[in-house]
Amino acid sequence: MEFATFADRAAAIEAEPADLEIIAHVSDLLADADGDSEERRSADSAVEPQNLEIVARFVQGRVVPAWDSTTLDIGPTTCYEAIARAAGTNVGSDDVEERLAEVGEIGEVAAGYEFGGQQGLGAFTGGGSGDEVGTGGAGDGDLTVSEVHETLTELAAAEGSGSQDRKIDLLFGLFNRCSSEEARYLARLVLSEMRIGVGEGTVRDAIAEAFDVPVERVERALQVSNDYGQVARVARDEGREGLDAMELEVGRPVQAMLAQAGTVTDALEEWEEAAVEWKYDGARVQLHHRIDDDGTAETRVFSRNMEEVTDALPEVVEFADGALEESAILDGEVVAIDENDDPLPFQEVLKRFRRKHDVAKAREDVTVRPVFFDCLHVDGEDLLEEPLTARHERLRGVLAEADEDPDALEDATVDDEADIEGLSLLWTTDDPDEIEAIDAAALEAGHEGIMLKDPDSAYSPGRRGKHWRKRKPDVETLDCVVTGAEWGEGRRATFLGTFELSVRAGDDLETVGKVATGITDEKLEELTELLEPHIAAEDGQEVDLEPEVVFEVGYEEIQTSPTYSSGYALRFPRFLGVRSDKDPDDADSLERVERLRA
Ligand code: AMP
Repeated sequence: MEFATFADRAAAIEAEPADLEIIAHVSDLLADADGDSEERRSADSAVEPQNLEIVARFVQGRVVPAWDSTTLDIGPTTCYEAIARAAGTNVGSDDVEERLAEVGEIGEVAAGYEFGGQQGLGAFTGGGSGDEVGTGGAGDGDLTVSEVHETLTELAAAEGSGSQDRKIDLLFGLFNRCSSEEARYLARLVLSEMRIGVGEGTVRDAIAEAFDVPVERVERALQVSNDYGQVARVARDEGREGLDAMELEVGRPVQAMLAQAGTVTDALEEWEEAAVEWKYDGARVQLHHRIDDDGTAETRVFSRNMEEVTDALPEVVEFADGALEESAILDGEVVAIDENDDPLPFQEVLKRFRRKHDVAKAREDVTVRPVFFDCLHVDGEDLLEEPLTARHERLRGVLAEADEDPDALEDATVDDEADIEGLSLLWTTDDPDEIEAIDAAALEAGHEGIMLKDPDSAYSPGRRGKHWRKRKPDVETLDCVVTGAEWGEGRRATFLGTFELSVRAGDDLETVGKVATGITDEKLEELTELLEPHIAAEDGQEVDLEPEVVFEVGYEEIQTSPTYSSGYALRFPRFLGVRSDKDPDDADSLERVERLRA
């Protein structure tokens, strides 16, 4: 396909306001991409991509597949320089920048120049494929989509000293052969600013339309491959069956499944049970560990955005080498830890995460540890469609294999799992109190809180669905008077805990709930010291307290309830701090509780 044809089609798409029409245009573009079957046959897809693949990416402003983190590494200045050079001896990159400031969009600027007369060095080297390149004049219509692709690929690969000059030369060579319209879309493509109204969903729908395959099969194929080009080609050449046969590939990242904010109440209402996990405060990682037939292993680690971060995280690679005996794709979080293995705040992970230099030195300062909570693939088997609990089970098996007898895992409890290195803890329960206790334990262990997951749900790459919920942070907080408490049990026998909370109602105080969540042992000791002098009466473990101390508490929601004298109950209250600046008279009132509920 000529690049001029692509540019024409892109212009038509850009001019089209209606989504359905845009899909129809993209569908036509894909259907026409390889022209007659002759052209198609001559391209060996294993060696070089066919026009269809290239066009399916170009139309989204991509040069490489979505899973590939290769970048062209062309800054705007490099692009301006190449445009200026192709535009003529009297044009400098300053002029290009000036015009850009006026018109606000690089495509428009590029389209405003006349290219073609320049016979600089780049005119002969540009284009990357030998002597036929660079000899054509601008807009002759001889520049093809695959030449543009080839040159941009060569440009992306240029590295080391002199590479910026080489990139400018190559790009100059391309612009020098462009008509105005071609230059418009080339400039945008190079700077990843296609902006013709074509998103991922558009290309998905267009592939389905062009090759008459069900859109959900296209969607699934895109999820496993992350390559619009490949999916378009398979849809055309092999149809639905081909799409269904596409699988995950160890080493090629998939998009991470994402979470929504949500409440325990909603989770338990919608699912019979909730799978509950700690929410680790780190950075998302996808681990790809491939063991070849000859036993050689390769590990690659990707970020949430599918960027490769392997070199920055040697601990994760070492972990995989030690723990995995099969090829696998695991999903998890990398957490920074202190010398006691306790988690450190997220900011510490960032010091390590994308680091390119001095990794060994950074590693001395901050240690990281992976925790995996999902498993997408084991030893040739894709697990995306398995229910969450089954995937977690596989994960446990994979991680435990190195040092455990798999049969012993049958009856393993969550506590046993705590001993399996790198495995997230997962509880399945329909009991809100148990969830509350898990939340408390997570906070006490220094984690962010909890995730609630639908135990039966599949793994949906890239989806921010309802199947994973991060517990919503408290929107409002209440300042409550502490009017009672209970002595703890076991190692907490000398601490007061489970504090009764009240709000003001005229001159009285009315209870609204009890808080036991979000308090560390250290804090309990402090609170006991603070409250013990105010004990008014004791009955077994229960104590009444004079109203002296005010707690700030968060909660999930306020419900009407016969349990407390106010007639309301805070659902999932959690301790946030002591309001030592407030007297009971300054605490919140029943009226505010009523207002917050409304
Ligand atoms: P957020 O970044 O606030 O949208 O929360 C979702 C993120 O929490 C995920 O992308 C993960 O990086 C992270 N996370 C921590 N622990 C878990 C877990 N147990 N399950 C899923 N995601 C988790």
